[in-house]
Amino acid sequence: MPEKTTVIGLGPVPKELVEAELGPEVDFVDSPAPEDLASAEGAIVRAAVRVGPAELESMPRLRVIARTGVGVDDVDVDAATERGIPVAITPGVNSNAVAEGAFAHMLQLVKSLAPLTEIVRSGRWTERTGVPVGDLDGASLGIIGFGSIGRRVKTIAEAFGMTVRAYDPVAEVPEPNRVDTVDAILRASDIVTLHVPLLESTRHMIDERAIKTMKDGAILINTSRGGLVDEDAALAGLESGRLGGVGLDSYESEPPQPHPLYQHPRTVLTPHVMGLSAKASHATFVAAARAVGAVLRGGRPDAAVNEVETTTARAAANEGVRQ
Ligand code: NAD
Repeated sequence: MPEKTTVIGLGPVPKELVEAELGPEVDFVDSPAPEDLASAEGAIVRAAVRVGPAELESMPRLRVIARTGVGVDDVDVDAATERGIPVAITPGVNSNAVAEGAFAHMLQLVKSLAPLTEIVRSGRWTERTGVPVGDLDGASLGIIGFGSIGRRVKTIAEAFGMTVRAYDPVAEVPEPNRVDTVDAILRASDIVTLHVPLLESTRHMIDERAIKTMKDGAILINTSRGGLVDEDAALAGLESGRLGGVGLDSYESEPPQPHPLYQHPRTVLTPHVMGLSAKASHATFVAAARAVGAVLRGGRPDAAVNEVETTTARAAANEGVRQ
């Protein structure tokens, strides 16, 4: 019987799910011992698991790394490329989950769900009309970053009856929704939601100046990356009433250092899990396993962060030389 190919999971990876995708010729090992690392030809790697030079050295037969999600900060991509190992990622599979997460934050703040729950729980029924219950219908939503998640946010917002404006310097935004500057979004929106990558140019894009540009009582939602928002400025905005609420799924540092912003009653906080819904997680593992399978069969992953010559391409090139 031909020997099975070993694929390992680095970090928690659901065995049955990826095994079904990888097929019977693969032996999937979810808590690999040193001998499994030594024989591994593929690795499915979770977020925050380091794959540096030492880890790569412990996997001499490795032919493909598939990272669940899109961040490869903890993978030494240059070292992998040098060894001809493609580093696959799974973009887009959680776009809807993050978009829904942004709306969960919006609804929690606009409908005052937390304080209203407390009123019922503590038997303060007569105080119920003192808590504001707002509407998404008719509210103006500003989307900064019109990529995969931003586009999905627009679709959901329109179903709620919101007026949508979007700003993106690169992606095409439909004419009726397009605005040409971030400031135009900030000035016009009851709710601003961020869907841009964290770059040097976007770090602290929501700072004291930006918050002063926003409408009085506007709500700010960040399900993107923590560094986009200056948290001190957000706290000052809440304290002055300029901001009516802040929803965060991501933080300047993670896990976050204690900050008085997180204690403010007009914040909603989730620990960077909006992209990890059941459906999105399932899709991420399937996509990662599919990428590993594709490379092991001599093909290419759908999405990779590096360009390497696969074994099939190398074999074809050698064949060409021989002819
Ligand atoms: P995407 O690449 O499809 O879209 C990002 C968009 O931002 C692009 O269209 C780009 O042109 C635009 N952009 C870049 N700089 C900009 C700027 N200065 N102003 C306005 N737009 C700008 O990415 P996506 O899949 O939509 O994801 C958006 C962000 O969400 C990612 O950067 C990621 O950090 C974050 N994210 C968070 C979670 C989570 O669990 N909370 C999960 C997935 C992604």
